[in-house]
Amino acid sequence: MKVDILGCYGNVVGPYRATSFLINDSILLDAGTVTEVLTDERIRNIKAAFITHPHIDHVKGLFSLIDEMVALREDGIEIFAAKQVKDIITENLFNNLIWPDFTSIPSAERALIKPNEIELEEEVEVVGINFKPILMNHSVYTTGFVVKESEKGFMFTSDTGETERFWEIARKEDGIEFIIADVSFPESQKNIAQISGHMTLSTLLHSIDRYGLRDIPVYIYHMKPFFIEEIRKEVANSKRKNLFFLDQGTSLFI
Ligand SMILES: [Zn+2]
Ligand SMILES: [Zn+2]
Repeated sequence: MKVDILGCYGNVVGPYRATSFLINDSILLDAGTVTEVLTDERIRNIKAAFITHPHIDHVKGLFSLIDEMVALREDGIEIFAAKQVKDIITENLFNNLIWPDFTSIPSAERALIKPNEIELEEEVEVVGINFKPILMNHSVYTTGFVVKESEKGFMFTSDTGETERFWEIARKEDGIEFIIADVSFPESQKNIAQISGHMTLSTLLHSIDRYGLRDIPVYIYHMKPFFIEEIRKEVANSKRKNLFFLDQGTSLFI
């Protein structure tokens, strides 16, 4: 499996882009950054997008992606999300006010967006990749994911504060090669992190220790650009060998 990191930060500032991963050149996991970095040729290959939650930094790439698809292709893309997430996207974004309702354009049968509801902790397979959503703890309904191809894969917390189920599954699940986890704020902003449903490093380390995950690589994502230096210092001071930073423009291979 190839995971291209199109964007992985908690805000769009200067060079830092919003969250979006492209898996095996064909499936988006979140869509915060798409047309800014993908050529038309690569856009033609996208079959589906799995969306963790409806916050704008995880969905805004859908707007320009669909606009580009109008010119590029006849078919649409499948969008997969929990019902609560799907409903917010269709009712509040593609509602003919914020953006056209591409779930019925050009026609209901040939729509450019085809929304699909997925169930918590049930696997969905799309072009050979299995996705299993897990309920997280964020300020809006959010699912993390287990993503696997041929029994091997990774887990993604999406945006989350302290939570249990995700880490319980991380401990039991076979074939997990790494975890991508939210550390948006440094400890000096712990209060804001808690209110907004994000982790600081100490929250993440608490879960890693509690669930015995010190040997699995964890890639930190969703840092707020303003706090990157502060978070990097905290991670260096922690002296943990399994912590890494996700880097936009790179690819991870499994
Ligand atoms: Zn976010
Ligand atoms: Zn969010």
